[in-house]
Amino acid sequence: MEKTFMPQFKNMDHLFDHQLEGLKWTIAHAYNGSPFYREQFKAAGVTPLDIKSLYDLEQLPFTTGKDLKEGYPFPLLSVPQKDVVRIHASSGTTGKRKILSYTAKDLDVWFDMFARCYEMAGLTREDRVQIAVGYGVWTAGMGFQLGCERLGAMAIPVGPGNIDMQCQFLVDLQSTVLCCTASMALLMAEEVNKRGLKDKINLKKIILGSERSSSAMRTKIKDLLGLEDMFDIPGMTELYGPGTGLDCHKHEGIHYWADKYILEILNPDTLKPVKDGEVGEMVVTTLCKEASPLVRYRTRDLTRKISAPCSCGNILPMHDKIMGRSDDMIILRGVNIYPGQIDEILSSIAEMGSEYQLHLERKDDGKDYMTIKAEIRQGLDTKNIENIKLKVKKMIQSKIMVSCDAQICDYGELPRFEGKAKRIFDNRS
Ligand code: ZN
Repeated sequence: MEKTFMPQFKNMDHLFDHQLEGLKWTIAHAYNGSPFYREQFKAAGVTPLDIKSLYDLEQLPFTTGKDLKEGYPFPLLSVPQKDVVRIHASSGTTGKRKILSYTAKDLDVWFDMFARCYEMAGLTREDRVQIAVGYGVWTAGMGFQLGCERLGAMAIPVGPGNIDMQCQFLVDLQSTVLCCTASMALLMAEEVNKRGLKDKINLKKIILGSERSSSAMRTKIKDLLGLEDMFDIPGMTELYGPGTGLDCHKHEGIHYWADKYILEILNPDTLKPVKDGEVGEMVVTTLCKEASPLVRYRTRDLTRKISAPCSCGNILPMHDKIMGRSDDMIILRGVNIYPGQIDEILSSIAEMGSEYQLHLERKDDGKDYMTIKAEIRQGLDTKNIENIKLKVKKMIQSKIMVSCDAQICDYGELPRFEGKAKRIFDNRS
């Protein structure tokens, strides 16, 4: 039998026992190793001995991105400096970056988790994995690369962009898997067709990282390339990097690696658990991370838990796809709008493509206005544009309770991106 990277828990109780052990270890480790955490725990009146059940998680204080920035350059460090074998940094755009430290064991755990993602996506040692994400101080390249080598598949580390080389390797090396952002996947899918390469390549799967994608966009990519399947890989630098879960071939949700971290979904305002199935902020606590453990770290990512078990039979729990970040949330006339909601709405309208932009402005009457610019799907007859426009406006009004104007564009009119797409243009201040 091939080596498996899946944990072998018989049932949820078995998993919870494992989580409690990890939680106890993490709190004692952070308390003893990090002056920052010791102060935090003391201020909250908790000691490692107070952690007796998983419910005791609630007594622990939160950690935030601000704590990471204030602890620059080695925030949350809970081991002696000599045990750190690598650092990675997040792609923060303002101020100091978040830098996270790794021990040799942390890297080992991360690559096992990433190999598990590839295993869940059905990859084997026969696969050839073309990795078109950023390499360097970011976690993406290293994660995809070393996870692939850990599984034993062939890694082809092209990096992002470089469309000519990407196309050449898809043909010459017969890559079976492509790893990239959703925007890059769409660009590649269109390029492969433009260059007439579809019959010359052997691409079966795409693994998408680090960017939300709508179902319309995914369907488009899948059709253009004739793929068997596509997967979403979540992850953030603070929590090792990408590779902390994957949606399996049933696509009923993202299985997350609950043997490595505990996930809470909390209301970002009250910091109390949301009701079952409601959207809230992901808050994570690591169970075996040595160099920079996370205790109730507020990720700002929004999603919901999926409580129904997956029909694939794997008992690892699931969360829904990431709906956006609480920081990306737009407040328009008192209504909270997450970009993920717009993806969902456009995907539900048959005439629409995947690309859109939101433009916000404040007019002379002092009120805020939103205009959505969205592309129709490829090959659609454009004589009913006025009807489509009405449909988009009506759907947005009924789903998110805010009125907006719509501009319907031709397929291909809006810009494509090699990295993350820019979709929100807030011109209000
Ligand atoms: Zn499943």
